[in-house]
Amino acid sequence: MDKNLLPEYHKHFEALIDNMTKENGFKLDDIIVPLAELCKIFRMCRGVTSFYKTPEDEKMGVGEHFVCYDNGIKGKVAYSRRKVIKTMTIIETVIYSPDDEPPLDEEEYEMLDVIVRALQSFVTRNRLETQTEKLTYYDEAGYMNTRAFMRFINQRIEDNTIYEYAAMRINLHHFSIVNREIGRRYGDIVMRKYFDIITDAIGDHGIMCRMGGDNFVGAVGKEQLDSVIHLLKGTPVIYDLNRTKRVMIVADAGVFVIDESFRFSGSDDVMDKLNAALQEAKSGFKDNIVFFDDRMIVDKEKKMFIQQYFPKAMKDKDIKVFYQPKVDVKTGEIVGAEALCRWFREGVIIPPMDFIPVLEQGTDICVLDFYMLNEVCGDLRRWLDSGRKVVRISVNLSRKHMMDIDLLERIMGIIRRNDVPPEYIEIELTETTTDVEFLDLKRVVNALQQTGVYTSVDDFGMGYSSLNLIREIPWNVLKVDRSFLPVDGDDSKSIRSVMFKYVVAMAKELGLECIAEGVETKQQVDILRSNKCEIAQGFFFDRPLPVADFEKRLDAKGYNIEDGSLIV
Ligand code: C2E
Ligand code: MG
Ligand code: MG
Repeated sequence: MDKNLLPEYHKHFEALIDNMTKENGFKLDDIIVPLAELCKIFRMCRGVTSFYKTPEDEKMGVGEHFVCYDNGIKGKVAYSRRKVIKTMTIIETVIYSPDDEPPLDEEEYEMLDVIVRALQSFVTRNRLETQTEKLTYYDEAGYMNTRAFMRFINQRIEDNTIYEYAAMRINLHHFSIVNREIGRRYGDIVMRKYFDIITDAIGDHGIMCRMGGDNFVGAVGKEQLDSVIHLLKGTPVIYDLNRTKRVMIVADAGVFVIDESFRFSGSDDVMDKLNAALQEAKSGFKDNIVFFDDRMIVDKEKKMFIQQYFPKAMKDKDIKVFYQPKVDVKTGEIVGAEALCRWFREGVIIPPMDFIPVLEQGTDICVLDFYMLNEVCGDLRRWLDSGRKVVRISVNLSRKHMMDIDLLERIMGIIRRNDVPPEYIEIELTETTTDVEFLDLKRVVNALQQTGVYTSVDDFGMGYSSLNLIREIPWNVLKVDRSFLPVDGDDSKSIRSVMFKYVVAMAKELGLECIAEGVETKQQVDILRSNKCEIAQGFFFDRPLPVADFEKRLDAKGYNIEDGSLIV
C-alpha cells in the first residue's frame, strides 16, 4: 500500500471501530462510510457480508446480505472469510477487486483481514441481538408477546406519554368453534388477518400483542380507541384467495383508559386492571366490552383478602355461630333455630354474603360448613347435658358439597362424634340449577332421610324452583323465600299474596313443614297464620343471635305473637 495512504487508513479504521462499538447503538451510515473509504484504499470494487441462520439456509442461499461498498464494477474475488459461530449461524464476507488491479500484497491482506474480522464480530453480535430481541419479544407464530407490551408501557411511562393511551385485553369469542368449523389452518389465517385489521386501525399509535391462544393485550391511542372497539364488536374476516369465505369475529375486551390520575405502581398494575375488566366482559351478563372501574379492584382485593385470611380465621375461631330462632306462629314457642355464620375481624362483623360467595369459588366453603356443623353439635351436646330445653338446629350446606361422595359419612361422623341425636339436626340445601346437580341433590337428601337428620329446601322460590324439586325429593321442610312473603300493604290479590298462598298450600299438601323466612311485621305473622304456615323466622322475633343470647331465648317461655317480644 502506498505509504501516503496510511494516515487515511488509520483515520477510517478508527472511525469504523469507534462507530461499531458505540454504547448507545450505531447508525448504519457511520459504518458504511468508513467501510467504503477502506475499500477504496485497498483498491476494492465491492464488499458483501452475508448472514445465514443455519447451514441449510446457506446451502439454499436464504440469508441476509449486507453490501458495504459497490462501485459498479463486477471484479474478481480478492478476499473471502467464512465463519461458523457456535449457534451454527454462518457469516461470510467476500471482497472483490477489479480485474485490472494488482492483487493484495501480504501486508494489505493482513490489514484487510483485521477489518473484516472486526466487521464480522460486529455483525454477529448485532444479528444475535436482533435474534435475541426476536426470541424475547415475539412468539413462535411471529406475534409480539406480553413482554413487548410491557416494554411499550414502560417506555411510555418513561417518556410521560402513557396518558395518550388506553390499554386493552382481548379474547376472541368462541374461537375454538371457528377453528373446529373451518379447520385449524384457516383458523390461524383468520386470526392473523383479524390481528392485522386491528393493528391497521391502531396504526403507529399503539401496539397489539398476543398472550397465547386467542388472547391479546395491547395499547391503543385514545383517538383510535373508538374505531378499534367498533372492530371488536364484530368484524368479518375473509380467509380464502377467491374472497368468498368469511367468518365474523367478535371479541370480548377489558379496556383501561389511562388518565392523568393513574399512578403506575408496578408491572402487573395495568394487567390486573385489564384482567378484572375482561373477566366481567366474559361473564356474559354485560356488554362484551367492559371499561375498567376501580370497584373491580376493590372486589378483587376483597376476594384475595378473604382467601388469604380464611384459614387463619378458622384456626383462631374468629368465625362464630349465630342462632336465629324459628317461632311457632300460633303459640309463640321457639321450635327451632338456624345457625348462621359471622366472621369477627378486629371488632367488625363481616356478613356471610361478603365472604360465602368467595369461599364457594373454591372448596373452603366445605371447611366452613363442617366447622359450623361441628360447633352446632358441640352446643347441642352442651345444652342436652345441662338439661336445657333443646330445639332442632338447621345448618346451611353449600351446593358445592353435592359432588363429595363422602358427604354423608362426613356429616354423620361429626354428629356421632358429638353424640347428638340426628333428629336435632336439620340440613338446609338450596335449589339446583342443573340436571346433574339435581340428581346429586336427590341422592344426598335420600341418604340423609335414612339417618334421621332433617332436610329443608332453603330459599324456595328464589332461584329456578321447579315443582320436581319438591315432588321428587323427600324433604321434611320447605323454607319459603322472603321474596314470596307478602309485605305490608300488599292486598290479598297481589301476585306475592297469591303465590305465597299456593306455595304454602302445596307444601302442606305434600306433607312438608313450612317456614316463612324474613318475617318482619305483625301483619306478616297474621298472613302466615291465615295461610296455615306454622313457623316464622325473622327480625320480628329476633335477629341471628350470639350463642349466649340465644340460650336466654331457649330458657324463656316464648314470644309474644302480638309484638314479637320475649316472654321470660
Ligand atoms: P339463608 O340461609 O337464607 O339465611 C337467612 C338469611 O336471612 C340470614 O342472612 C338472616 O340473617 C336473614 N334474615 C333473617 N330474618 C330476616 C328478616 O326478617 N329480614 C331480613 N331482611 N333478613 C332476614 P345472613 O345471616 O346474612 O346469611 C345470608 C346467607 O348466607 C344465608 O341465607 C345462607 O345462604 C348463607 N349462610 C350463612 N351462614 C352459612 C353457613 O354457615 N354455610 C353456608 N353454606 N351458607 C351460609
Ligand atoms: Mg338458610
Ligand atoms: Mg334462606
